[in-house]
Amino acid sequence: MVAEEYLKAGAIARKVREEVRRMYLIGMSYLDVVEFVERRIREEGGEPGFPCNISVNEVTAHYTPFEEDGKVVKDGDVVKIDLGVHINGYIADTAVTVCYNDEHLRMLGRNEEALMRAIRLVRDGVLVGRIGKEIEDTAHAYGYKPIANLGGHGIGRYRIHTGKSIPNVWVPSEERLRSGEVIAIEPFFTTGKGAGYVIEGGIGNIYSLLRRKKLKGEAGRLLDLIWERYKTMPFTSRWLKDEFPNVRELLGELVKKKFVRAYPVLVEANGEVTTQAEHTMIVGEGGATVIT
Ligand code: MN
Ligand code: MN
Repeated sequence: MVAEEYLKAGAIARKVREEVRRMYLIGMSYLDVVEFVERRIREEGGEPGFPCNISVNEVTAHYTPFEEDGKVVKDGDVVKIDLGVHINGYIADTAVTVCYNDEHLRMLGRNEEALMRAIRLVRDGVLVGRIGKEIEDTAHAYGYKPIANLGGHGIGRYRIHTGKSIPNVWVPSEERLRSGEVIAIEPFFTTGKGAGYVIEGGIGNIYSLLRRKKLKGEAGRLLDLIWERYKTMPFTSRWLKDEFPNVRELLGELVKKKFVRAYPVLVEANGEVTTQAEHTMIVGEGGATVIT
C-alpha cells in the first residue's frame, strides 16, 4: 500500500467535498454540479476515481447525468454528492449530503453521527458485523432505518470495491477488518416509513470494464481506451463523448456483449428520502486513519 498517494487523493477529495458542501446548489443543474466536482478534482492534481454521483431525494446512489440532463436542484431537495479521487489508482471515496429540507436535517445529523460512531470502532480484528450493528442501532435509536443493501467496502488499487463489505446493518459474518486495509464506510439513512433498502430504478450513466478482448472496429478502440484510461474504475459516457460522438451506442454494444457493466440507478424501495455520509480510511492496529 502506498500511503502517500492515498493521503494525497484523500486531501483532494476532502477539499472538493467541503467546497461543494458550502455551495448554494439551488438552481444549479445536476450536470453543472458534477462537472464542477470533476473539474476541481483535476485542477487539484487528481483524477476522478468514478463519475461524481448526484442522487436526489429518494434516488439514493449511482445517478450521474447524461449530457442532455436538464434536472436542476430545487428548494426542498436532499442532495447526496458522492465523489472519488484517484492518484495512480489509489482511490479516496467520500460523500456529503446537502439538505435543503428542514424535515430531513435531523436525519442527516444522525446519519453523520452513525458514520462517526462506526469509525470509532475501526481497528485491527473488529468484526464487520459490529460496525453494521453500530450503524443500525444508531438509526433505530432515532426512529430511522439504515439502507440494508448498500454499504461500505474495501478499496484496492484501481478497484473501488475489493469484495469486502462493511454493512450498514448487523450481519452474522466472521469477516474482520485487518490492519493496513483501506476501507470506505458509508451509512445511508431513510425515514421510518422507508423500506430500508434500495431497488433498481432505470439505467444510469455509470459503467465499468468487466473483461478485455481484442475487438475489431470502433467498439474495440473504445474498449482499449477504457482499459488504458480507467482500468476497472467506473466511468461515464460524458468523459468519452468528445473522442467517440456515438459513445452511447458503442457502450450499449459492449454492455450487451458483457465486456462492460452498466450500473443501474438505485432508489429507496418505498420512495422515501435518503441521506448518506462517507469517509475512506486506513485500518490501523488501534484505530482508523481517516484520509478524507
Ligand atoms: Mn462513495
Ligand atoms: Mn463508497
